[in-house]
Amino acid sequence: MAEILVLVDHADGAVRKTTSELLTLARRAGEPSAVFIGAGYEAARETLGRFGATKVYIAESPEFDDYLVAPQAEVLAQVAAASQPAGILLPSSPDGKEIAARLAVKLESGVITDAVDVSADLVATQSAFAGAYAVTGKVTHGTPIITVKPNSATPEPAETTPTEEKLTVSISDAARAARVISREPRQASGRPELSEAAIVVSGGRGTGGDFGPVEALADALGAAVGASRAAVDSGWYPHAHQVGQTGKTVSPQLYIAAGISGAIQHRAGMQTSKTIVAVDKDPEAPIFSMVDFGVVGDLHAVLPQATEEIGKR
Ligand code: FAD
Repeated sequence: MAEILVLVDHADGAVRKTTSELLTLARRAGEPSAVFIGAGYEAARETLGRFGATKVYIAESPEFDDYLVAPQAEVLAQVAAASQPAGILLPSSPDGKEIAARLAVKLESGVITDAVDVSADLVATQSAFAGAYAVTGKVTHGTPIITVKPNSATPEPAETTPTEEKLTVSISDAARAARVISREPRQASGRPELSEAAIVVSGGRGTGGDFGPVEALADALGAAVGASRAAVDSGWYPHAHQVGQTGKTVSPQLYIAAGISGAIQHRAGMQTSKTIVAVDKDPEAPIFSMVDFGVVGDLHAVLPQATEEIGKR
């Protein structure tokens, strides 16, 4: 069976959900081999086996933390040259896309970014014009390299005991050209990561800049906080929380939109949510055409009531 390489997305061995999604997609096309780069493999082992990695290439060294993405592209190129995989899947994160581009140059291969689906013959589907069109494409030169947006697939467990191959890590002088000087962790909110959260509460222009009620409801539900572009562009919430065409794609069990009109570019990032609830004071707001449950009202009154009620349960 053809081997498909999957770059493991992790933080010190804590594997992100995107990796289980990539392993699930890779299983359609062949036998997934995970490529683990960085420190903390022991913590990642169980998850990789649970989602069907038949092999894991391990380039374990804390030194990778000292550099940006160039060394990871080198490791992947090294593995690809030796194993001649049928395809390589990476997460569509900023790092994942940069690694994919560098890898494509090294392997002289074509690359497709921001896929939302990958078929058994490695045809990638991309979403265009805010989800109005689905575009399919296939890499015709070299090893297909495809980055896949988070939440594009539902992770399906397939228990395996992967074989492990430890790689000798050598970071070239070229990859050492840019070094990380310091890392400043963002102030931890204690909330789940937006792309991975089971519940997302998002605020839009209707918040008037006060995200307090949105955050309070999110905390009562154990949810992540999202924002529309209008809220982000107004400087009310960081861009990392933007949901939509030019933000993140989320697909939680429950998506609550508060003061968000439901523009097509916002929908592109949340329309696959399992249950959608909207709170908007305008009964004609377009968001109400796509919701499972809608509340017409002022979010500054509705959200605190919901938060209080949830607190009692
Ligand atoms: P509005 O459209 O102004 O809606 C605000 C809503 O709040 C209204 O329905 C109003 O009735 C309601 N409201 C007001 N006050 C209250 C209140 N007190 N209580 C309850 N409801 C209230 N947008 C995104 O979100 N994500 C993207 O990634 C994105 N990418 C884009 C890319 C491109 C190329 C372009 C052109 C646009 C993009 N946009 C994106 C912008 C998008 O078109 C909309 O402008 C944006 O989504 C509107 O944000 P909003 O719904 O918060 O604001």
